Amino acid sequence: MTNGTFNPIIMVPMFIAYLILFVIAEIFLLKNKMNKKISIILLILSIIIPGFILGALANPVFAIQQIIMGFYNIIQNPVAFSMIFPSLLPMIIILLFFILSTILFGRTFCAYVCPLGSAQELISRVQFKSKIKKSKYIVNIPSKYLNYVRLGFFILMIIIALTVGIAIFQLINPFMGFTIFRNLTSITTIILPIILLAIVLISSLFIYRPWCRIFCPFGMIAWLMSRFSIFKLRRTADCTDCKACEKVCPTKESYRESKKSACYQCVRCIDICPNDAIKFKK
Ligand code: SF4
Ligand code: SF4
Ligand code: SF4
Repeated sequence: MTNGTFNPIIMVPMFIAYLILFVIAEIFLLKNKMNKKISIILLILSIIIPGFILGALANPVFAIQQIIMGFYNIIQNPVAFSMIFPSLLPMIIILLFFILSTILFGRTFCAYVCPLGSAQELISRVQFKSKIKKSKYIVNIPSKYLNYVRLGFFILMIIIALTVGIAIFQLINPFMGFTIFRNLTSITTIILPIILLAIVLISSLFIYRPWCRIFCPFGMIAWLMSRFSIFKLRRTADCTDCKACEKVCPTKESYRESKKSACYQCVRCIDICPNDAIKFKK
């Protein structure tokens, strides 16, 4: 799997774990029962099960990188298209699942299923104190700048992959740090991913979801797709415009007209609203 071949023994349990966590999170969101306690339980489950137990294989970064590398191989050897394309299908299906879920329900996958997102979110809770009525991130970079950086990395990844055939994102993919318990026999091969994962997690103390918002290629795709998501957090008629939710939102997405493209469904806004005026709905 780590060299890009489809291994159903690894992939199928992973996909099932993703699906189960996704459905559980969606049930709580749709019933408007998601709160801080439930979200923390889901975050921990996501870090443990698809994360450390299943090794975060596959993950969206890996899927995107493998699809691009597949196209590199097809460009190099067009006659092998009929052999290469079927091997890419599992990755394409996984990526389509992530994208479709984002169009339907916004960033629930990023919020409660992705182990790397969950780990960053959980660490960010150290920064967040609901009694302090504003977000406390030490570094708060505006989303528009983050998107330029993320887009730049995405384009660079495609150019390098399609021209010289190097899977640059796979080299720096912090998801691979979750394979620590699967690779105990060859610890040297995962030292770099563990260091990368540690850097991302430590940075999460100071920047809200640094990997998601600065580097993750799927984060950029999800940012674009979730603008059009059918279900999202919306204010109801009970809103008195007190703006408490806007002060605690780590991505500044809680204002009324927001398209919620950078909303990670963290429910900080829901928890702090004095009028129970934020619902997950059409
Ligand atoms: S943006 Fe990327 S790393 Fe972050 S939660 Fe989504 S898929 Fe995971
Ligand atoms: S916290 Fe609630 S009442 Fe206040 S602005 Fe936000 S949605 Fe409206
Ligand atoms: S609007 Fe902001 S505070 Fe509310 S769930 Fe989304 S990211 Fe969290």
